[in-house]
Amino acid sequence: MVILLKNTASEENIKHLVEELEKKGLSANYSKGSTSAVVGIIGDTTKLDLDDLEKLPYVDRVRRVSEPYKAANRKMHPEDTIVKINDQVSVGEGSFKVIAGPCSVESEEQMIEVAKRVKAAGATLLRGGAFKPRTSPYSFQGLEAEGLRLLLEAKKETGLPVVTEIMNINHLDLFADVDLIQVGARNMQNFDLLKVLGRSNKPVLLKRGLANTVEEWLMSAEYIMAGGNKNVILCERGIRTFETYTRNTLDISAVPVLKKLTHLPVIVDPSHATGMSWLVPQLAKTVVAAGADGLMVEVHNDPPKALCDGAQSLDPDQFDSMMADIKRRVEFENKSL
Ligand code: PEP
Ligand code: MN
Repeated sequence: MVILLKNTASEENIKHLVEELEKKGLSANYSKGSTSAVVGIIGDTTKLDLDDLEKLPYVDRVRRVSEPYKAANRKMHPEDTIVKINDQVSVGEGSFKVIAGPCSVESEEQMIEVAKRVKAAGATLLRGGAFKPRTSPYSFQGLEAEGLRLLLEAKKETGLPVVTEIMNINHLDLFADVDLIQVGARNMQNFDLLKVLGRSNKPVLLKRGLANTVEEWLMSAEYIMAGGNKNVILCERGIRTFETYTRNTLDISAVPVLKKLTHLPVIVDPSHATGMSWLVPQLAKTVVAAGADGLMVEVHNDPPKALCDGAQSLDPDQFDSMMADIKRRVEFENKSL
């Protein structure tokens, strides 16, 4: 961190600033040029508040030169994190994982049929929303606790571990048998929810917010990790841009960027990124090539009748053909499914 001082700063001010920083266990180097003076801070500055420094009358500007996230930072933890989902499935261990299932759990028949088909095609985790964050209060809100029950039935029937979204901190007890808890885009900065998940030992799938930077996203991961829960998987799902043809714009460059900045596993959801099923298999290929640890795709047994996100959902036959293609591309990268 670098503090740029106003040219009205006195020797006394600087001495006081350096002493205060040293009391916090940091070392501070003062240097004076012909027009300005700077104090460079060395040490762990994650707990320093920029505002506290900027409000000092003799400080002009404060700039961070290192990342504000620590637990999620690859510099502090060079080796890849492997998130263990259950005894059979881990994410980030080198193979490419596919999560598939409907946007929302609608019925037992739907869940069992989709679960069997996606498992047969090579998916290793089953998704299905029970609590749905919908833009309109008049849209289908999910089957809630009954939806969780049906999802767990499908888990029992197929043996696939399940992932589903939590929206409310008070619901955590209902998620006891859920293998991977999703924090959706709209809750990426619900800090109370992140703190509660940080105190649990459940793996968390943290989706990128609709209009959040990579750094804000990593700071949300940091909230969970700061509570003690290191089992975080990041999921790029498209961001808001000026383009309206697709539902969102898939930020595929976020994959190699995250791989550089953090040791956490990274997966991509091309369904919510595009909003259109015909685009999903095309983009799924880029996800493999970009070096992600996996993919999350919406699959519905009868997309035109889906209660949520039918237009972006693949039917099971389309999923089969996407998986055949993905398998070839994963092998080309010398990985396995
Ligand atoms: C979802 O996965 O069903 C979902 C609502 O995703 P997002 O939070 O990315 O919109
Ligand atoms: Mn959806």
